[in-house]
Amino acid sequence: MDAVTLTRELLRFNTINPPGEEEACARHLGRILESAGFRVEERPFAPGRTSLVARLGDHGNAPPLCFTGHIDIVPLGGTRWTRDPFAGETDGGKLYGRGSTDMKSGVAAFVVAVTSLASRLAPTPGVVLVITAGEETACEGARYLAATPGALPRAGAIVVAEPTGNAPCVGHKGALWLEARTSGVTAHGSMPERGVNAVYKAARAVLMLERYEFGVAPHPVLGRPTLNVGNIHGGLNVNSVPDAAVVGIDIRTIPDQKHVPLMRDLASHLGSEVSLSPVADAEGVWTDPEQPWMREVAEIAARVAGVSRDVRAAPYFTDASALTPAMGNAPTVIIGPGEAGLAHQTDEYCLVERIQQSVEIYRELTRRWCGV
Ligand SMILES: [Zn+2]
Repeated sequence: MDAVTLTRELLRFNTINPPGEEEACARHLGRILESAGFRVEERPFAPGRTSLVARLGDHGNAPPLCFTGHIDIVPLGGTRWTRDPFAGETDGGKLYGRGSTDMKSGVAAFVVAVTSLASRLAPTPGVVLVITAGEETACEGARYLAATPGALPRAGAIVVAEPTGNAPCVGHKGALWLEARTSGVTAHGSMPERGVNAVYKAARAVLMLERYEFGVAPHPVLGRPTLNVGNIHGGLNVNSVPDAAVVGIDIRTIPDQKHVPLMRDLASHLGSEVSLSPVADAEGVWTDPEQPWMREVAEIAARVAGVSRDVRAAPYFTDASALTPAMGNAPTVIIGPGEAGLAHQTDEYCLVERIQQSVEIYRELTRRWCGV
């Protein structure tokens, strides 16, 4: 099977999230993998929201190589597409469609790479494929797998096939999105002394957040953690004292920052006027680029795709935030055929040449891992 053909097949499934509805797409991949000899487990986190874990190979305690990717896609956006987002049109070496870059091409490339070697993988450490639903809404599918005992095996190394133009990225920042809620007592706007104003409490919280210091040294590649207040909602009408307000906070962390103590520290700064709750929680990911397998990936990518050996980080977060700790903290690389700059865009496309290169890179990684 050819990876471009498989990408086009996957593009035809409308897996726009929300609502997702990944089941039919997941089952299509499941059938391909089962007929290649994989043991496939469906792991829905909600009705129709199906992730797959597929395993081939068994060699005592030697852990498999993991490939992971998501099959949900983001909405089409308000601008009219000039191409059919679900038809998989190709033109001038580009394959168009929602999910062509992010990231059905990546999933197709690793499925084709490992099924082409499947007949030789049974007596080796083999591979495990983790194909997730619900990634675009804060890694719902991956978080469910990570929280389900026995769903994920330990992995020896992890390849995340998100769009990087086949340039390996050795990590990314984490994301912690919080809601800070304040409450008060409503009263008529002409008698504010009879009420307690929740917006004033929220305003004090926002000013504190503007001055908040993380107290960590910057990461050599990812830089400093950031905090942004993205929205505030409070009050219903101008002539009442508001009794509720909510502030949306977007924090991007560096890999050494654990989110639980960070949230505790923020809560203690904000004090008892404010209650904090997480909306999205994905910790950062980082592997030393000098780690021997990571060097091997860089060497193969340079040879096959002509990309430089610079140390890079991905600008977005990935399912690895949930999967890497759950699979034994194996070395993790993000490398895939899509172009990062085209993810979530109108008229999203993937270069056909990059898809072919990814198949070759993933095949080579699998061959070396399994000694076939
Ligand atoms: Zn993605």
